[in-house]
Amino acid sequence: MRLQLQPMQLPSTGEIASILTTLFAVCGAVIAAFWLSLVIWTFRDMRRRSRDPFAQIMAAILVAVLPFVGIFVYLILRPPETLAERYERALEEEALLQEIEERPRCPGCGRIVDPRWQICAHCEQPLQKRCVHCVELLELSWTRCPFCTAPQPMVSAEISANPAPAADEPTDVAIQS
Ligand SMILES: [Zn+2]
Ligand SMILES: [Zn+2]
Repeated sequence: MRLQLQPMQLPSTGEIASILTTLFAVCGAVIAAFWLSLVIWTFRDMRRRSRDPFAQIMAAILVAVLPFVGIFVYLILRPPETLAERYERALEEEALLQEIEERPRCPGCGRIVDPRWQICAHCEQPLQKRCVHCVELLELSWTRCPFCTAPQPMVSAEISANPAPAADEPTDVAIQS
């Protein structure tokens, strides 16, 4: 009985070879799937970072030709920003620029002034006047207050033409800005 069982438990060389073949095939398939997914990921990632189809294909080829090394080369060399991020940054910069451009400037010296100022802090150019009735800030050329309809005296836009409204305005407005 024992003599008959022992030779059956030892696998033959043919069996070992087939087990090893299956093992290598499974490992190879897993590695190939991983490699292929890295190539696809690289192509997609590059497509988010560059509109150039040549650059997208070259990035995918780099990872395909240099398996598992190419991906590190790609990660080092790829554009740092995606197209969406670049677009967002451009929008932010444009908004910032627009904000600076939209800030009122003194017609006398051209420097940026605070919208609450009645005269320019730099050159004393009159910028706005207060309503004689409701003390809202009005443009110099307005002859009637749009808030309370009170008629307004004409104010010249010349420097030091109207010192009275500047005097009753507390100086802390100028200091704040
Ligand atoms: Zn000025
Ligand atoms: Zn008024």
